[in-house]
Amino acid sequence: MLPETIAAPATPPGHGGVSLIRVSGPKSKKIALLITGARSLKTRQPTLLPIFNGSGEIIDHPLVTFYKGPFSYTGENIVEFSCHGNPAITDAVLSTILESGARLAEPGEFTKRAFLNGKLDLLQAESVGMLIQAKSQSAITMNNKILAGDLSKELTLIRDDITGALASIEFEFDISEDDNQLGALISSIHDTIKNNIKKLNDLLFSYEEARLYNNGARVVICGKPNVGKSTLLNALLGQDRAITSNTPGTTRDVIDSGFVLSGVPITIADTAGVRSGAGALEADGIKRTLKEVSSADIVIYVFDSVPLVVDFIKDTTKFIYVFNKKDVLKKPKLSQNFLSISAKKGTGVSLLKDEILAKLIPVNRPESDLYLTSKRQKDHVFNSFSCLKKASSLIDGGSPELEIVALELKDGINHLDALLGKTSVDDLLDKLFLTFCVGK
Ligand code: GDP
Repeated sequence: MLPETIAAPATPPGHGGVSLIRVSGPKSKKIALLITGARSLKTRQPTLLPIFNGSGEIIDHPLVTFYKGPFSYTGENIVEFSCHGNPAITDAVLSTILESGARLAEPGEFTKRAFLNGKLDLLQAESVGMLIQAKSQSAITMNNKILAGDLSKELTLIRDDITGALASIEFEFDISEDDNQLGALISSIHDTIKNNIKKLNDLLFSYEEARLYNNGARVVICGKPNVGKSTLLNALLGQDRAITSNTPGTTRDVIDSGFVLSGVPITIADTAGVRSGAGALEADGIKRTLKEVSSADIVIYVFDSVPLVVDFIKDTTKFIYVFNKKDVLKKPKLSQNFLSISAKKGTGVSLLKDEILAKLIPVNRPESDLYLTSKRQKDHVFNSFSCLKKASSLIDGGSPELEIVALELKDGINHLDALLGKTSVDDLLDKLFLTFCVGK
């Protein structure tokens, strides 16, 4: 059965220069000819044409481009209408297309078709969604590498290597009768397994960093009222975003702002001051502060006097202690590490930014420019890694049962196949592409 023809706007709603409507499927060219009145459309040749609605009125004059399958994004015949950027025009043109035999596309359906038609593997298709959502240049670069197929190539190499090891074991079962060769064979298989364990481990290592570049980190500023939290927030952002005042308790709500720190999108929240004996409104703010602290990646705890007691939270590993107002106050003597700054004058703020980065990104990360960017990718790589680890420890244990080693290798390969989409099931595809926008 032929697939249905789908249509959707590919640009966001609203007024703008151009609004793009994309139509993909076997009827796309026929629909374009019908609604434009054109006699033919040449592939990849944008043509200015009128669009007629069902009553024969002209509703727009878009640039119409036909892409003959399989040389198109989805691998099917595609027609793109670059209409004038007005939501009323987009609606009218889309309605005319739908009345002429297309149906509205579901989120991510164009990319799903590209995957199903072999234009992209699952990793690449997934990266399209991540590219659209990317919040920083680093996240864009990472996902562009996946889209270009670099991660797929690396994983395919690993997969082929393990398949080679598996084939040697199977050869041993089926054909070889030379027991003297067995030791050499096991040793060579073990080398292959160890080599690929390292590669998978490096990829796993990259995930946390990619997660930072893709999703960003949440930094929460807290401390007693009037210590200079809002002033510090403004200093970090380099603009007057939070209200600062001399009256304790002015910042009652959690204020969220953002900036990009060496490629990591940082969301920074200034919280209400944490102090005891406050009124009901502020007590509410304090409750929210505690919630913020528990969901933060980094907590900047600001203080301007000693003794420094942070007894409202147990785990302080993500804390950076900051002594503020060093321009007017004497630096205290404390056993714990802290940074001494003046938020008002801006002194020490760049050191604080370095400290945030150092806490977020581990120093001894592997040298690789390939990253896993989704939890799905991480889970499959981890499962494959675990299978190889088990196979390796079986060999380490001496006189391994080669059948069991082979089973672990097969499982390891299956996880990589699932990751590349060679063995994908329908519900996984539906879940994955639902996170896309309509029109992609
Ligand atoms: P918050 O309640 O902790 O958010 O404190 P604010 O940021 O509103 O600051 C309280 C007061 O301390 C304001 O008058 C600020 O100008 C002042 N302040 C903040 N940082 C500094 C600093 O580094 N040096 C000096 N001298 N005053 C500061």
